Amino acid sequence: METDTITAISTPIGEGAIAIVRLSGPEAISITNQLYKGKDLGEVDSHTIHYGKIIDPETEEVAEEVMVSVMRAPKTFTREDVVEINCHGGMVSVNRVLEIVLSKGARLAEPGEFTKRAFLHGRIDLSQAEAVMDLIRAKTDKAMSVALKQMDGRLSGLIQRLRQELLETVAHVEVNIDYPEYDDVEEMSHEMMRQKTKEVNKEIENLLEVAKQGKILREGLATAIIGRPNVGKSSLMNALVQENKAIVTEIPGTTRDIIEEYVNVRGVPLRLVDTAGIRETEDIVEKIGVERSRQVLKESDLILYVLNYNEALTDEDRKLFEAIQGLEYIVIINKTDLEQKLDLNEVRNLAENNPVVTTSLIEEEGINELEAAIAKTFFAGDIDTGDLTYVSNVRHIQLLKQAKQALEDAVNGLEMGMPLDIVQIDVTRTWEFLGEIIGDTASDSLIDQLFSQFCLGK
Ligand code: GDP
Ligand code: ZN
Repeated sequence: METDTITAISTPIGEGAIAIVRLSGPEAISITNQLYKGKDLGEVDSHTIHYGKIIDPETEEVAEEVMVSVMRAPKTFTREDVVEINCHGGMVSVNRVLEIVLSKGARLAEPGEFTKRAFLHGRIDLSQAEAVMDLIRAKTDKAMSVALKQMDGRLSGLIQRLRQELLETVAHVEVNIDYPEYDDVEEMSHEMMRQKTKEVNKEIENLLEVAKQGKILREGLATAIIGRPNVGKSSLMNALVQENKAIVTEIPGTTRDIIEEYVNVRGVPLRLVDTAGIRETEDIVEKIGVERSRQVLKESDLILYVLNYNEALTDEDRKLFEAIQGLEYIVIINKTDLEQKLDLNEVRNLAENNPVVTTSLIEEEGINELEAAIAKTFFAGDIDTGDLTYVSNVRHIQLLKQAKQALEDAVNGLEMGMPLDIVQIDVTRTWEFLGEIIGDTASDSLIDQLFSQFCLGK
C-alpha cells in the first residue's frame, strides 16, 4: 500500500474558472493545516467545505483565498484522506498553492496516480479506471455519458456475469471428473457445454458489434466531403460547423499539426479532418486515379457526396459514385434554389440504398434533413444510446476479440468431440481474457502502463 501523500492540480471538467489542488494520503489534512488559515481542519467533520486563506511560508502573506473540502477515508475516491483546495485566482495562483503544498511534504502525483490508488484500494475496477481516462478525453456529450456509465460499472457488471457463467461451466466439469460418484450433480454433457459457450459467445459478439459505435463516439467519424469544384462543399462544411458547436483540436506529433474540427450532429461526432485529400477532394479522381482515391476514401467512416442540382451529371460524377461504392455515404443534392438540370432518377439509381438529401445551403434549407440522415446512418433507426453498454476502449476490444477466439476454439473442440477436460482449457482462457478487462488477472506492468497514460491530477 502507498503511504505517502500525493498532490496535483486537478481541474473539474467543464469548470474553467476554478482550479483545484487535490491531496490524497495519510498526511493530506495535516499538510493542508500547516499552510491554511481558518478552522482547524483536523477537527472538522468529514465531507465538509471551509472558507479560508493559504499563507505563503516565504512572505507570510496571504497567497490565495480558498474553499477547502475535507474528505476522510474511506468514503473518498482513493479511499484515503482527501483534501481539495479550490482556488479561483487562475493558473498562476493555483500553481503557487501547489508549490506551497509540495514544500510541506506532499509529493507530486504521477499521471493517473489518484485513479491508480482508487483501483489498488479496490474502490474501482480497471475498466472503471479506464473510463476515467476516457472521460477526460471525451470530446462529445455522448462520449462522456458512455464513459460515465462505464465508470459506473456497467461494462464490469456484464463482464462479471459472463465470467461467472464460464466459471460455473468449468466448475461443473471439474465436479463431474473429481466426484464421478456424485449422482445428484447432473453430468455436464457436450451439448450443455456447447450451449453455454455459444450463449456467452453471442454476448461477446454483441459487445463487439456496438464497439464500432463506441469507437465512433470516442474518436468521431472520419468524414470526407467530396464532389466536383463549386458544388458547395465548403458551404456544407461551414453550415455543419455553424449549426453544431465545433471543437477545434490540435494533434501534435506530426511535422505539420493536423487541425481537426469536431462537430456534434445529433450526438454523432463528426471529425472533419482538414488535410489534403479529406476536406477538399475535388479533382481527387483525376489527380490520383480511381484506385488510389478509393483507398483514401476507404479510410473515411462517412462520405458526404455533394452534387449540383443546377448541372447535369458528368462522367466525373459517375466515376465518384463508382469510387465510393460499398462505402457509407450520403448524397447531397445542393442548390435546389436554382433551376433543375440534374436527373434525380439517375442519381437515385446510382446511389442504390444510400440516403439522398436535397439542400439549398445558401437559403439554409435541407440541413435538418441531412442531419437526420447522418444520425440515422449511425444509430440505425432509433437505438437509444443510453441503454447500450458500449465498449469503447481499444484494449477492451482487443481482449474481447481474444476471448471470442478462445471460446470459438472451445466450440470447435466440442464439435470435434474432444473430451470436456481438454475443452475447458479454452473456456478458462476465455475467462482469463475477460478478467483482464476488469483487471482481475491483469499483471502489474500492464497496470502501471495503463495508469501512466492518465492526465495528471486524476
Ligand atoms: P466548393 O468548391 O464545392 O467548396 O463550393 P463552395 O462551397 O465554395 O460554393 C461554390 C459557390 O456556390 C459559392 O459561390 C457558394 O456561395 C455557392 N453556393 C453554395 N451553396 C449554394 C446553394 O445552395 N445555392 C446557390 N445558388 N449557390 C450556392
Ligand atoms: Zn471549397
